[in-house]
Amino acid sequence: MYNLILFGPPGSGKGTQADFLVKQHGFLHISTGDMFREELSRRTPLGQEARKYMDRGDLVPDEVTIAMLRKRVEQHPDVAGIIFDGFPRTDPQAAELNDMMEEKQASINALVLLDVDVDTIVQRILGRAATSGRADDAKEDVIRTRYENFINYTAPVFDFYDQLGLAHRVNGAQSPSEVAAAIANIVGPAAQD
Ligand code: ADP
Repeated sequence: MYNLILFGPPGSGKGTQADFLVKQHGFLHISTGDMFREELSRRTPLGQEARKYMDRGDLVPDEVTIAMLRKRVEQHPDVAGIIFDGFPRTDPQAAELNDMMEEKQASINALVLLDVDVDTIVQRILGRAATSGRADDAKEDVIRTRYENFINYTAPVFDFYDQLGLAHRVNGAQSPSEVAAAIANIVGPAAQD
């Protein structure tokens, strides 16, 4: 099994790169943001709860996010690999992911940070707001809150994987195909196992 964390601030291109990796390797793509939006569109209690946080650009509480993620992982016991997109976003989420991998006798193979500066992010997200239809993409203050939450709560997760020798940094301001090539260099043949 090959498990990869796509990491980076909002608008750094995680979803785009996840799509490439799914096509190349057939991995399962788990995006917690997509899962919350799906719950929201189905008007489930989980969706209503998550919405309070998402609309402000805040993180959904760990216990809610972890329970949802765990269920999705357990629904797919036999996949060749998983791309985690938007998870883990806090230290407790990273610790929980570690436990989950151990239970499966698997591990996280790499974390890739897509590095993009804040001004580029704001421009990208405002630009995609028209087509994404996401309420949290349309307002600059909400985008900046999401970025600040990334710096305060999520960025420290990088160090956790860096200490394990698993963290990689890629310039996310390059074109999507250049970023994909850089990720392919990191994932490399290891993903064929
Ligand atoms: P982006 O990376 O563009 O901010 P996502 O689609 O990954 O967007 O997430 C959208 C929102 O969903 C986040 O702002 C947050 O409210 C919530 N969310 C997604 N993943 C998590 C997570 N792992 N922990 C807490 N909240 C999350």
